[in-house]
Amino acid sequence: MDFALAPDLLELSDQARAMGLEAAAQRDIREDSWLIGSDRAFSKQLAEAGWIGMTWPNEYGGGGYTNLERFVVVEALISTGAPLAASWFADRQIGPTLLQYGTDEQRDRWLPGIIEGTSMWSIGMSEPDAGSDVSSIRSTALRDGDEWVINGDKIWTSGAAEADWIYFVARTDPDAPPHKGLSEFVVAMDSPGITVRPVTDLTQNNHFCEVHFEQVRVPGDNLVGGLNESFSQIMRQMEHERGGIDRLVSNRALYDDARASFSASGASDPLLRQRFAHAESLYTIARHMVLQEVLGQAPRGWSAITKTLATEFEIEVADLCGRVAGSDTMLWNRISRNICYAPAYTIMGGTTLILRNIIGERVLGLAREPRP
Ligand SMILES: Cc1cc2nc3c(=O)[nH]c(=O)nc-3n(C[C@H](O)[C@H](O)[C@H](O)COP(=O)(O)OP(=O)(O)OC[C@H]3O[C@@H](n4cnc5c(N)ncnc54)[C@H](O)[C@@H]3O)c2cc1C
Repeated sequence: MDFALAPDLLELSDQARAMGLEAAAQRDIREDSWLIGSDRAFSKQLAEAGWIGMTWPNEYGGGGYTNLERFVVVEALISTGAPLAASWFADRQIGPTLLQYGTDEQRDRWLPGIIEGTSMWSIGMSEPDAGSDVSSIRSTALRDGDEWVINGDKIWTSGAAEADWIYFVARTDPDAPPHKGLSEFVVAMDSPGITVRPVTDLTQNNHFCEVHFEQVRVPGDNLVGGLNESFSQIMRQMEHERGGIDRLVSNRALYDDARASFSASGASDPLLRQRFAHAESLYTIARHMVLQEVLGQAPRGWSAITKTLATEFEIEVADLCGRVAGSDTMLWNRISRNICYAPAYTIMGGTTLILRNIIGERVLGLAREPRP
């Protein structure tokens, strides 16, 4: 079997790589660019290239590209460190959600801004007491005439301080069982009653935020999908969030630089050679797994496996690059930043422990450990 990309895909990848390298050259940090590299001017550049909503139908302004074409573009952009964050959540998740669950009117209202690279979105799912367990969400949306009135707190909301819109999950039926009374809304971030407080992480980054909602009024037709049916919608959205190449290449630029510097030094250390061989194998396997998702060949629940393996690679890269750099790792630089940041890979989008549970119980059908 030949796993090589066809010439037209290689050409597309080269184009994306060239654009990514040019944009990344203007930034100090190239790692995690899809999450922390927010640059609205770059979103417009992507839009002009037709690289937002690449696979969406033409009638909504999409490019009509194949999933494989999108894969090569995204892989090249993120691997080079292009600052995608201002468009990424909308491109990866919100757009596909609106295409699947939104009304025609909602698609007409929100998709153009996404495709033109002019609207930035954030995802308001996690709460102080509801991260892994979405069914514990306590924020509420109660109907009042033609509107919904929203109250509650979200946390770890990436990009919320800059976003124009937040995709918000709330409890709409307080009497229903925990999984059954949740619904999804699009909320304008400039609505009265929203307070955003950026949270500074260990690496001095403050891309994620606490967001407080107090008596926020939202138009009735901003409900996306079925009333009280958010849980099954979230499961679908998580597949978009977990199964993509972004989970594998967040710190690829760092890895490429470390590998080049190891080669330039003669690559003689046998332990490091072994570590690179291990990393290359891990990357190749995880990339093929992502490709299975991309080509529609993945069985149900595959994204939990893909994300688990892919983020293990990212953790391995952080450690390996530290070992290549040696004592330089004690200074504050890209490498030490990535080591501090690395635990986040296995937390965001569902922790590895949770994903292993999903793999065991739902994918492999293993018996649950009886409770004592
Ligand atoms: C960089 C970053 C960006 C993020 N961006 C966003 C965002 O934009 N929007 C958003 O909504 N959220 C975002 N998150 C939040 C993320 O989705 C949550 O942190 C994650 O789901 C885990 O939830 P938690 O932090 O509440 O941990 P908890 O759910 O409290 O888990 C704590 C620990 O207990 C373990 N655990 C919990 N339940 C079980 C169980 N049943 N079995 C075994 N182990 C268990 C977990 O694995 C973890 O180790 C982001 C997180 C990070 C790190």
